[in-house]
Order: sequence, then structure tokens, then C-alpha cells
Amino acid sequence: MIMAKKPIRSAKPKRAAKLAKPKKPAKPAPPPTPAPAQVTALDLLRRLSESVGVSGDEGAARKIIREAVAPLADEVKVDTLGNLFAVKHGPPRAPRVLLAAHMDEVGFMIVGIDGDGLLKFEAVGGLDDRILLGKPVWVGENRVPGVIGMKPIHLVKGSEVESVVKIDSLRIDIGATSKEGASRMAKPGDRAAFAAMFAELGPTVRGKALDDRAGCAALVEVLRGKNYPVELICAFTVQEEVGLRGARVAGFAANADAAIIIDCTPANDLPLADDGDENTRYNTRLGYGPAIYTHDGSTLHDRRLVKYVSAAAEAKGLPYQLRQPGGGGTDASAIQRSRAGVPVVSVSIPGRYIHSPAAIVSASDFHNTAKLIRAALENWDGKVLKR
Ligand SMILES: [Zn+2]
Repeated sequence: MIMAKKPIRSAKPKRAAKLAKPKKPAKPAPPPTPAPAQVTALDLLRRLSESVGVSGDEGAARKIIREAVAPLADEVKVDTLGNLFAVKHGPPRAPRVLLAAHMDEVGFMIVGIDGDGLLKFEAVGGLDDRILLGKPVWVGENRVPGVIGMKPIHLVKGSEVESVVKIDSLRIDIGATSKEGASRMAKPGDRAAFAAMFAELGPTVRGKALDDRAGCAALVEVLRGKNYPVELICAFTVQEEVGLRGARVAGFAANADAAIIIDCTPANDLPLADDGDENTRYNTRLGYGPAIYTHDGSTLHDRRLVKYVSAAAEAKGLPYQLRQPGGGGTDASAIQRSRAGVPVVSVSIPGRYIHSPAAIVSASDFHNTAKLIRAALENWDGKVLKR
């Protein structure tokens, strides 16, 4: 705004000089107030990102989501594995639509304690050994602070500099000085997660576990919407990162006519070389809207749903992108093959550096994902799945 005013003044110097005398200097415009729903959505995302919910131990994240959906849904329940369901009833005999987002995050499991009080651990979910050294972590339900220890550079010798230290030779240091001391603070089976605080960075947000807490927060936004002409079953699933295990039973229980899976997918949109040239081999790009999948490593997404959701975006003027081919997969794979088969489509929020302590997601992609799912549900009818 300031940039636009300056050239106009300099183009008409006489008028500007006349006007300058009587007028008081203009007050700077107040910053735009974001719509309340957006404040709530990002605030919820912050709380979810900072909560710890490594696969198989999603309780802390589930508690936050449960509180958020309780006033929005007609029914809320938790199943045997820990999946959280929030159901919003539609008209009688309305089609059953399942929305799913996973609550769990990648992290670690403590598997033993050394004599000197250091904790042995294993990865839970897909983690790259190269990013582990020196990272602060929270261990167990009490979030005991620790660090994945590393040699200081002063002590690193020759070829060690070029090699990746494997996870089995790493330990978590919680400051204990003996096995007994450490066992009072942590025990085998405890989970640990990256200790990382959420932050808003310009048009983006940064945090751990945005895969898939961003999807969970978007799903809550969908529940916040008006009544839809469908029986809406929202599943916040467990254990996605270790093999879509929660979705397997959630898909069966929902008995849905169709499912939309909301996840976070790699953006990989930074230049490949030092020349800063555009990377055309990205999977998805930040800021270009929700990514609708045509296929991934484990699912051919339903053609009718891909078309329908894309058309819903176009009708509302919402940006979207078709995710470029690539590996990986989502809960869609397990849900598609539940019961006698369920038509599925994945719609993901692009994220840079996912499965690390600091993923980055565009706030507009996040909001637009919720808007797109709402738009798709608002006009859902029998024609969507017609062959
Ligand atoms: Zn995910």
C-alpha cells in the first residue's frame, strides 16, 4: 500500500504540496483483523503442533481435538485403537461421507537405558538419520526435556565428518547420571518427540507434526461449517505413520459411500541447483492451494472424486494443484480397501521439511483446504459417484 502511494505523489508534486499544509499526517492504517475463524484455526494448529502424539500414543493430541469437536458434532467417540470419530448427522438416508486425518506424528520410542543413564531409542515412522544429531526432544508423558547427543565438532575425527551417524548408535541424554536416575524419568515404551515450538513466519507457519496436525485442524474447520447434505463422519486416525493401522479399522467402522483423506504432503519446491532456477520436479508447491491426488505409491484415487473435488474448487474460485506423481501414501490406501471397497481421494496441504522438527506450511493452503472440503460437501448429491 505504501509503495502504491509514493509514485502518485511524485507524479503530481504541486497538488501534493498544497494538500500537505492543512492536513495532519495520516494515521497509519490499523493492521487488518483476521476473521475470528482463522484465528481459532491457527491457534488450534499451534496447540496441536506443540502437543506430543507419536504413533500409538496419540492421547495428548486426541484430547485437544476432542475438546474442539465436542460442541461441533452430534456424536463423538473413541474406538478400541484410539481413533476419534466426530459425526455430524445429515438428512435421513443421506450419503455417508468419511473425512479422515491422522493424529499421530513420527518420533521415537525409548527401548532401553544404558548404565550411564543415556536412553537407547528407535524411530517410530519414517525418519532420516541425518537430521537427528543434536536435536532437543521431549520424552514421555511428562515431556522430560532431553537431547539426541552428539560429539562436539572439536572431537570429530577425519572420515567421521563425512559419514551419517546411524540411529542405533545414538542416545538421548536427559541429564541423568545413572541408570537408576534415568529410570525414574523415562522407561522403555515411552515415546519421545522433537521439542519444537510453533511459529508464524510471514505467510507460512513452522512447526513439528504439521503432518498431519494441519489436516486435523482443517478437519475441525470443516466441522465448524453449516449443515451438509451428507452424513458426515470425521475420523482422526491413529498410527498412520507406522502403516495406516488406525485407518484400517476406521474405514471399516465408518461404512462410508466415499472418503476424502486430508493429509500433509512433501512440497519439494525449492530450486534444485545453486542457480535459483525453478524446480519443475516438485511434488507440490507452497501457496498454490490444496493438492488433489490422482495417484501415489499405494493408491489410484477415484477418478470421479478427483474430478468432483477439482470442479468444486473451480466453482468457488479456490486455488488447487494436482499432486505430481511420487511415492508415499495416505490413509486413503487402507480406507479404499476396507469392507467391499470405498471410493477415495486425498487432498493434502503441501509442506516443506515434513518429518522434521520444523516443517513449513502456507497458511493460505491450510485455510483453502478446509474451504475446499466444505465446498465439496455443500453440493454433494447422488451424481458425484455416478458412473
Ligand atoms: Zn501424514
